[in-house]
This record gives sequence, C-alpha cells and structure tokens, in this order.
Amino acid sequence: MELTPATAAERGLLQTEQLYEYILKTSVYPREPELLKEIRDLSSSHPQAFIATAPDAGQFMAMILKLINAKKTIEIGVFTGYSLLLTALTIPDDGKITAIDIDRSTYDRIGLPVVKKAGLTHKINFIESPALLVLEQLLRDPENHESFDFAFVDADKNNYANYHEKLLKLLKPGGIIMYDNTLWGGTVAMDEEFVPPGRLETRVHAMDLNRKLAADSRVEISQLPLGDGLTMCRRL
Ligand code: SAM
Ligand code: CA
Repeated sequence: MELTPATAAERGLLQTEQLYEYILKTSVYPREPELLKEIRDLSSSHPQAFIATAPDAGQFMAMILKLINAKKTIEIGVFTGYSLLLTALTIPDDGKITAIDIDRSTYDRIGLPVVKKAGLTHKINFIESPALLVLEQLLRDPENHESFDFAFVDADKNNYANYHEKLLKLLKPGGIIMYDNTLWGGTVAMDEEFVPPGRLETRVHAMDLNRKLAADSRVEISQLPLGDGLTMCRRL
C-alpha cells in the first residue's frame, strides 16, 4: 500500500502547520529527553521517518505511563524505537515492555544502539513476529491475564479491532490502551472522493474501530487530536 505523509494540519484537528510547529517548539522539544531526540534525529534519514510516533503524542503517553505507574506494558509496532525508548525511560527499573514488531531490522540498526547506551535493554523483551500471534501466545498463559498496565498499538492498522479483544483480556482493570493513527491523516472525516487511494482501505478500518470503541461499554475512551489521532481507552 502506498502511504504518503500527511501534513500536521491533515493529521489532527489543528488549523495550520505553523500551529503544530509552535506546539512542538514551545512545549514538546524543549522537554524531550536527549536520547529520544537522538533516535528522532537518527530516524529522520529513514525514507519512512514520518511513520515514527509524533513527539507530541509521545509526550502525552509518557505522562499517562507515569500517572498510572505503569510497570508491565505491551508495544505493537516498534519501527526505529521512539515510543519504545520513551516507555523504557518512563517505567521503573524493574518494569518490563513486551515489544512486538514483524521486522526488527530497523530497530536493531537505529534504535537499539541508543537503548543500549541508555542502559535500558533489561526492560525490553523484543519479539519479532506478527503481533496477533504473540497476543494469542500470551493469552495461553493464565498468569498473563489481567496483568498488563498499558498497551501502545501502532502497527498493522487493519487488525486493531482484533488486537482490542486480546488486549482487553491481557490488561488489568484500570489499564490503558493507546491506539495510534485513529484519525488516519484526517481521512476518517473526508468524503471518499477526496481520500488518497493509498489510504482508502485502512480508513475503513479506522472508522470501524472508532465506531466500535465509542460503543464499547468495557472501556472509557478519549479521542485525542495528537499526532495522527490517538485514542486512549481505559479498561473498566
Ligand atoms: N511506534 C513506532 C515508533 O515510535 O516509531 C512506529 C511503529 S510503525 C508506525 C509500524 C511498525 O509495525 C513497523 O515497524 C512494522 O514493521 C510493524 N508491523 C507491521 N505489521 C505488523 C504486524 N502484523 N505485527 C507486528 N508488527 C507489525
Ligand atoms: Ca503511528
């Protein structure tokens, strides 16, 4: 599927690109940890750098991880490792992240050296696999049921509704799931004729997920216009 970067104004509800730059320069970049900046800089030469987690969404995620004292987390979709390092920097020293990506080569090349430098590899269990298989495997062990504090879902958008069912079983009551890219370049609110062809299929899945989450009495939700749209779910 061909995917082109969306402008900041298209990604969220912001009126202009300048307003997004203002937020980043005023409130996000000055507080971004140096090691995260390093991963962001190293990632910027990657042809798909635009798929990395948006720093404003990352800043919010770190706040939530701290507020709920998250210790045991799942990440679906690592890429170069921005959100993974962010999580590893935020959770306590005995915290553990189950990080899943279908291809670990980009992380190994770009993110892992920075994570090693930060001395944080002990917090990460990286599993190279399609995420659904890993979630199914985790669920086979009853000890994993209702044991995770937090999940960040940022891969394979067409499967989000399937991830949701598994994650609800893995998450503790009160646990948080963050779904990224739920506004899908702003296409969820466009007339179909204006949607770039490469975004049509996933747009349908994003709209379906947004409807399902809104109707799901097992969670509380908040649709945040951060990055490309971040939906926060709190398991009841
Ligand atoms: N969270 C990352 C960050 O902070 O930069 C960005 C993740 S990127 C948007 C999506 C990642 O999902 C890619 O690295 C891709 O290899 C991975 N991926 C795609 N399909 C997958 C699947 N079925 N299971 C697990 N990972 C998958
Ligand atoms: Ca994303």
